[in-house]
Amino acid sequence: MFRTQDRLLTIYNHLYAFFGPRGWWPANSPWEVMVGAILTQNVAWRNVEQAILNLKKANLLEFPEMYQAEEKELAELIVPTRYYNTKARKLKGLVNYLIDHYQGNLAEFLCQPMDKLRSELLQLWGLGPETVDSILLYAANQPIFVVDAYTRRIFHRLGIFPEKISYTEMQQFFMQNLPVRVSLFNEYHALIVALGHQICWNRSPKCKTCPLQESQSCPFSVDREI
Ligand code: SF4
Repeated sequence: MFRTQDRLLTIYNHLYAFFGPRGWWPANSPWEVMVGAILTQNVAWRNVEQAILNLKKANLLEFPEMYQAEEKELAELIVPTRYYNTKARKLKGLVNYLIDHYQGNLAEFLCQPMDKLRSELLQLWGLGPETVDSILLYAANQPIFVVDAYTRRIFHRLGIFPEKISYTEMQQFFMQNLPVRVSLFNEYHALIVALGHQICWNRSPKCKTCPLQESQSCPFSVDREI
């Protein structure tokens, strides 16, 4: 276990030294994190930023106002995030749940034990594990590791994951082999996203500039320069 933990922490340290602190999640409140976690599904963050700006300008980002807004009205404001009708429905589902079950007390909702909170969120329409875990980690400060397609690609290329591995298996791997710390989980996921977004592309990864190439002997990097 310690060898695996050492390797994971070495990867983390190289990424941190290269990218620096990511300051993730970029939001002004836990509720804004939750909205962003839904809006970012299958779309780049810059699209989310535009949609959140639209919601703010319309004074519909905040919790009670969004509850009173029509789904159609929300959909029009979040068009930049694609799938806007579906995402508006998800937002309304979440905000309605919080009003109906918690009288809109977000702090009370987020302070619950992690397993209970996770299972409640997973029951809501359209919220999958990645979205829910992002909410748990970045809005509720609960110690859970968020994994995604970048995680799968990078750690497979590093020879750590098999080609086919489930979301749960990836998550358990990190949770079992890293010290359980919110700050570490927060930064590590953000650094993986930075590497996947900027360097370890699906096609033609920019291995020459990758902070993991030499230190981690990435077997995938050979002869794959652009
Ligand atoms: S060396 Fe290349 S393939 Fe390996 S993690 Fe870095 S960018 Fe990805």
